[in-house]
Amino acid sequence: MKRIGMLRIAQESNALAPVLSEVEDFAHDREGDDLLQATRPGQTEVIGFMKDAELSGFCRAVRERPGFEIVPLFSVWAFPAGPLSHRALATFRERLRRALDAAGPLDGLFVSLHGAMVGEEGSRPETVLLDDLRDLLGPDLPIAASIDLHAHLTPDFVDPLTLIVAYRTNPHRDHADTGYRAGRLLLDVMQGELRPRVAWRHLPMVMGGGNTLDFLNPMRRVFRRMAELERHPRVASVSLCMSHLWLDAPDLGWSTYVVTHDDPELAERIAEELADLAWSVRFELPPEFPDPLTAIDQARAARLRRRLGTVCMADASDLVGAGAPGDNTRLLGALLDHARDMRCLAAIRDTPTAQALYDERIGSTQRFTVGGRYPGSSPALELTGRVLARSVHPAFGRRVALDVGHVQLVVSEKAPLVAKPSFYRELGLHPSRADITMVKVFFPFRLFFALHNRLSIYAKTEGPTDLDAALRVAFDRPTHPRDFVESWRPADRARRQG
Ligand SMILES: [Zn+2]
Repeated sequence: MKRIGMLRIAQESNALAPVLSEVEDFAHDREGDDLLQATRPGQTEVIGFMKDAELSGFCRAVRERPGFEIVPLFSVWAFPAGPLSHRALATFRERLRRALDAAGPLDGLFVSLHGAMVGEEGSRPETVLLDDLRDLLGPDLPIAASIDLHAHLTPDFVDPLTLIVAYRTNPHRDHADTGYRAGRLLLDVMQGELRPRVAWRHLPMVMGGGNTLDFLNPMRRVFRRMAELERHPRVASVSLCMSHLWLDAPDLGWSTYVVTHDDPELAERIAEELADLAWSVRFELPPEFPDPLTAIDQARAARLRRRLGTVCMADASDLVGAGAPGDNTRLLGALLDHARDMRCLAAIRDTPTAQALYDERIGSTQRFTVGGRYPGSSPALELTGRVLARSVHPAFGRRVALDVGHVQLVVSEKAPLVAKPSFYRELGLHPSRADITMVKVFFPFRLFFALHNRLSIYAKTEGPTDLDAALRVAFDRPTHPRDFVESWRPADRARRQG
C-alpha cells in the first residue's frame, strides 16, 4: 500500500482589513480519524458550511483505485478575513511538523490551500508552509494541491508543488470536483503513469466584480476553451487564477497554469494561449457601483419588485465574503437617514455591543453604539432600539436583533457573512416583508435568495473591498486597469523569474 497524506490549511485574506485572523477564527478544525470519517460518502466534511469539499473529492479518487492508503493529517479552514497573525502561522507550522512526525513515512501528499492567504506585514504564510513541507518531506515526494480560483500564483508558491489544480467555477461550486481531479493526477504520478510537466504565465491585471463569473461572458468563452484544451490526450489539467483583489501584493495579477503528460513544449504553448485569451477580456470591466443614495433611490423606484419579493442590497465596501470585517456603518447610516419610507433589514458587526446587548431583556429599549472600533474604520453610530431576539451562531457568535425604527438591525459578535435569508429568519426577521435586505457577500446571495430576489443592488461607500482600494496598492509594474499596459509579457517574465 502506498501512503498519501491529506491536509488542508485554507483561508482567503483581505490584507486591507484591520482585524488579524487568529487560530480561533478557524471554525473548521478536524484531524486524524475524525477527519477521515468526515470525508466518507454521506458525511459532512465542513460542518455548517459544506457537505463535500476538496478532501471528500480527493478521498473519492483514492477509494476508486486500489493500492493506496489515506493518512489524514489535519484540516483547518476559516471564513475570509484579515491577515493571518504571526502567532497563528507559528501554531500551524508546529502542528504540521508534529502531524508529519506522527504520520510516519509518506509516498505522496494532497494539500488543499486557498492560494490567497496573506500574513501580518504582507508575508505569504502558504509559501512558508510549502517550504516547510519540502524541508520535511524532501524534494522528490509528489505533492498535489487544490487551490481557489482567486489564488495569487508566485514562483515560491508554484515551485514547491508537483502539480496544482484550481477551481473552475465562480462563484465556487466545484470544491469536491477540484479535490477529485487533483487526487487522480496525484495517484497517476505515484503510479508512474503521469510525468507532470508544468508551465504557467502571469498577467499584470487586477479585475473582479460581475464580469468574472464562469457561466457568463466574457469568462464563459475562456472556461469553455479550457475544457476544450483539456481534451487533448497529453493535457492533464488547465487552470486559470483570477487572483483575489485585496492582497496588497505589489506583484498581484491573474495567472494560467498547465500540467501535461511529459510534454513541456505543449504545456508552455497552452499556458501562453490561455494567457492571451484571458488578456483579451481585460477591457470588459463591470459597471461602477452606485453610492448609497442612488442605490436607495433605485430600490425605491422598484415598487413592484419590492412588493413581489426581495430587493437585496450588497454592502459592496464591506463584503465579509471577501474578508471585510463587517463593521462598516456607512450604508447602515444611509438606510437610517434616507430610506425612512421603506422597511430595511441590515447587519453589522460590533463585538462589545453584541456581547452587552445579548444579556438585555427581550422587549427592552437600549441605547447602543455600532462601528468605529478599529483604526481607519467608519464612524461610530449612536442608536436606540428595542431588543427583538437573540441567538448564538457557530460562526457569527452572539447575535441580537433590534428594532431601530424602519430598520431592523442584527448586531453580531463576529463578522456577519450575510448570504442567506436564514441569517435574518433565525432571528425572526423576514426578508420577504422587507423593502431592502442588506447582504454582505458579492455573489452567493443571488443563489440563496434566488426564489424571492427581484433586484440586486451593489452600494459602494468606502471600505476594504472596494476596487479602487485594490488599485491603490504599490504595484511593482504597470497593472491593468490602473495603468495602460500594452503587453502582459514583460511583467510575466519579470515576476515569474521571482
Ligand atoms: Zn475564491
